[in-house]
Amino acid sequence: MRLLRSTDLALRVLMRLAVAGESTPATREVAADMDVPYTHAAKVVAELQHMGLLDARRGRGGGLSLTAKGRTASVGALVRAFEGDGDVVDCEGGATPCPLNTACRLRTALRQAQEAFFTSLDPVTVADIAAEPTGALLLGMPGVR
Ligand code: SF4
Repeated sequence: MRLLRSTDLALRVLMRLAVAGESTPATREVAADMDVPYTHAAKVVAELQHMGLLDARRGRGGGLSLTAKGRTASVGALVRAFEGDGDVVDCEGGATPCPLNTACRLRTALRQAQEAFFTSLDPVTVADIAAEPTGALLLGMPGVR
């Protein structure tokens, strides 16, 4: 299963903020640190803020910080939220749906596999994925303070 770019980006932003300590980097700094376009990062930051996983304060002394909810957030829940509940295969196929569409055992098996994928990520938290060795790598990046 391949994640949407926005899903991976959301997790990257959260990992970056998980090691920020007392500092509150701006969205532009986080985007640069994570090597992603600012506009994509800003969109994801707005969504994560809406979910209560990060605080975003404007102005002098402002910036982004992870909330307690964000630190303990389940990666499985996050991936579900960003990926939505669509099938991994497009069985409807727009103008030409697959002919097996109405009674396909493969479709059922793929749905079960998709759910197993999410379930395996449920116990993993944002703090877990920002732990060593990833944490040290994040802190060693140029520009990270
Ligand atoms: S074979 Fe089954 S899983 Fe594949 S596109 Fe057709 S309905 Fe979907």
